[in-house]
Amino acid sequence: AQRIIEALDTYDHPLRVPVTLESHRYEVLIGSDLISRAGAYLAPILPRKNAVVITDETVATLHLPRLMAGLAETGIQATPFVVPVGEESKSLTRYAALINDILDHGMERRTTVIGLGGGVVGDLSGFVAASILRGVPFVQIPTTLLSQVDSSVGGKTGLNARAGKNLIGAFYQPQIVLADSSALATLSRRERVAGYAEIVKAGLIADPALFKWCEAHGAEILDGDPAALAEAVNRACRFKAKVVMEDEKETAAQDGRALLNLGHSFGHALEAHFRYDGRLLHGEAVSIGLHLAAALSVKLGYCPEEDLRRLDAHLRALGMPAGLDWFDETLSADALIRSMARDKKVSDGRLSFVLMRGIGEAFTSRDVEMDTVRDVLVEAGC
Ligand code: NAD
Ligand code: MG
Repeated sequence: AQRIIEALDTYDHPLRVPVTLESHRYEVLIGSDLISRAGAYLAPILPRKNAVVITDETVATLHLPRLMAGLAETGIQATPFVVPVGEESKSLTRYAALINDILDHGMERRTTVIGLGGGVVGDLSGFVAASILRGVPFVQIPTTLLSQVDSSVGGKTGLNARAGKNLIGAFYQPQIVLADSSALATLSRRERVAGYAEIVKAGLIADPALFKWCEAHGAEILDGDPAALAEAVNRACRFKAKVVMEDEKETAAQDGRALLNLGHSFGHALEAHFRYDGRLLHGEAVSIGLHLAAALSVKLGYCPEEDLRRLDAHLRALGMPAGLDWFDETLSADALIRSMARDKKVSDGRLSFVLMRGIGEAFTSRDVEMDTVRDVLVEAGC
């Protein structure tokens, strides 16, 4: 009965995931048509009925008109600022131009910054909100599956630096997050796969029931079924909120937020190899990274081989990348290892790996020999 009530809820009232942090509490609302109804949700929260909306060119065409109409319904005056599509918008240059444009337009401390878009817009608009006039209220309206399940919970905002991705930024929490499941209908299957990999990741880390749910409903999610998407976002946000509430600023000595990097050491090395040029999406890299992390865990004797087979079977049944055979070219194990060593998670010269004792049981380890990593990469097709 609870399931039925929840499913109905999705359509009439949004699902709510509370995020309670030391000095701030907010909710992620999940459901259909939240963008069109944004005015109703935001009017009671905004200090003043005045906002700037930051979005990218694609989302501006697809979803901005609905948002502007929704805000106008409750008398919220909003001015849109549209940035180009893609990671390049998370640069200091773009940020400087944007923040100057907003200041020229006129901004005061009670004006809210609304970010409407994927993770790029979320990170950029969050950092604008954190830094303009030393901080103004911030609202996230994530429109990709990845941003709904990942970047909209946790308060990380920021930009890329010459030295690497996400090296400039701030923890800055939103007043509310509106995760509109209808917005995901316009996403490509490839973008849905990329977000879905982070959901599978959540199951593997500490939520075996979520992994099992994925095995039953993964195909519906990739096909864009709105009820399945809402439920997936609900489960994944609950999971991430729990981890973030226990370790808000990634300071836990062990495990905590670091577990969210399962598959990411490998994933980042793969992304770096393809130079973030669009040939490999972050979530696709994570999908392969999950396989490699599980294979490494098996090799080290922590994880039963059966769990690796179960993960691979799930990914491959959905046509997701699950190994280095995904690529036309043969990658160099040594180059990938060098790239992992450059990744920012190195401290004291030792790489920290997130490993698994099985599905739903991740842990961090600093005792992994690079020779073992090399063996795993070679076995996976390097
Ligand atoms: P993105 O924002 O570039 O969006 C991907 C593509 O989808 C873009 O072309 C965008 O225009 C388009 N798009 C967005 N919404 C759409 C919709 N509803 N319909 C059709 N197209 C749509 O990328 P992303 O994958 O959402 O996010 C990746 C970024 O998020 C990276 O910069 C990453 O560093 C960041 N990130 C941040 C966190 C965090 O905790 N802050 C977590 C994970 C990822
Ligand atoms: Mg990720």
